[in-house]
Amino acid sequence: MDKLRVINAKTSNRDYKILINPGLCAQVPEILEDTLRGFEKIYLITDITILSIYKDTINEFLEKCGKPYRIFTLKQGEEQKNIDNVKKIYEDMLDFNLHRNDIVIAFGGGVVGDIAAFAASTFHRGIKLLQFPTTLVAQVDSSIGGKTAVNINNVKNAAGTFYQPHLIIIDPLFLNTLPEREIINGMAEVIKYGAVFNKNILPDLKKVAVSFKSGSLLKSIVSDIRFYEIIYKCCRLKAMAVKKDEYDTGFRNLLNFGHTFGHALEKETGLDLLNHGQAVAYGMLMAADASIMLNIAKAGLKKKLTDIYMLLKIPEKLPLNVFCQSINKTGNNGNKQISRDLAAAGTVQSMSFDKKFSSKSNKFILLRDTGRPVFVYNPDRDILIEAIKNNITGE
Ligand code: ADP
Ligand code: ZN
Repeated sequence: MDKLRVINAKTSNRDYKILINPGLCAQVPEILEDTLRGFEKIYLITDITILSIYKDTINEFLEKCGKPYRIFTLKQGEEQKNIDNVKKIYEDMLDFNLHRNDIVIAFGGGVVGDIAAFAASTFHRGIKLLQFPTTLVAQVDSSIGGKTAVNINNVKNAAGTFYQPHLIIIDPLFLNTLPEREIINGMAEVIKYGAVFNKNILPDLKKVAVSFKSGSLLKSIVSDIRFYEIIYKCCRLKAMAVKKDEYDTGFRNLLNFGHTFGHALEKETGLDLLNHGQAVAYGMLMAADASIMLNIAKAGLKKKLTDIYMLLKIPEKLPLNVFCQSINKTGNNGNKQISRDLAAAGTVQSMSFDKKFSSKSNKFILLRDTGRPVFVYNPDRDILIEAIKNNITGE
């Protein structure tokens, strides 16, 4: 990527720019002056890990803006996305005398992005919001599209708003410090875009992956200039889906490919054993198997996915013991081993509570091929069980 990429995101409430370029962080003061004119203060929300790595960088660009600023630091982790922290943020914003024309910067991953956007969308009924995503998940997915959220009593994203940001700045250089686990998390979303929309994303990713022989493959990929173009493609697809269906009632559901299975796997195994990206990665394989078993797709579809998993060293089979361990932890079944049948049945059961399901019909996103998604309602339960079991390994 040799020049600044600009996506003009259009929504019913607001049109805004998504800017993508390595090193963009250094230009934040000029960009803010150009695009969000008239602000007097900056309120930046981040988390403790990001601050420990990027304290100097953050202070430097805030100083250069030449306006009063304040930094609110969350502890790290999904459980910080709670309403108590929102209250703390509101109180701190009041104390700082933040006004509607001032700016909130969400500087971090999905957790920071969701809670900061929730606070920005509600404080004084909506304050200017800049999303500055620093994880791959946030750069290609969660920072775009205006969904804000907090968890309530362990129910993920139980409360939230639709509130489009005023600007998104994506600097892929921040991915250089991202732990491998977090890269896989985002890579699953990248693969999802390739599976659902094609746009040569999987072949492009393959080209980048095969060019590295040694070292940490995923880290090498996300620091490669060719990968920045893939990020750009994903952002364009997300912005397109949001433009078509801002409130996620139809077309935007396509971005949920692999997620109906994935969300159920997350529920059945526990977050510490399987993160969102890993769950979605297995979920996409299950959706591919279901597509093939229902004669919607040819057998080659699964191979298109597993080829890229193999290259990126993303596991293709979900070990059965992640289900057993979670049951042990909750104490429901003591130390009882569960079978693949039971694990699959539990996962199907969990799907009925997925928010994409209406009470009348179970809606799945399946594929005829990469780039050819279809909605399938109420697929046969036995096929779902088989599709899940196919991708679980162990006795
Ligand atoms: P996600 O973006 O995957 O939804 P989080 O917001 O929880 O999730 O971020 C995942 C973890 O990565 C957090 O511990 C966060 O502090 C850390 N993190 C975020 N951005 C970076 C970065 N650029 N370098 C290193 N760690 C980061
Ligand atoms: Zn996802």
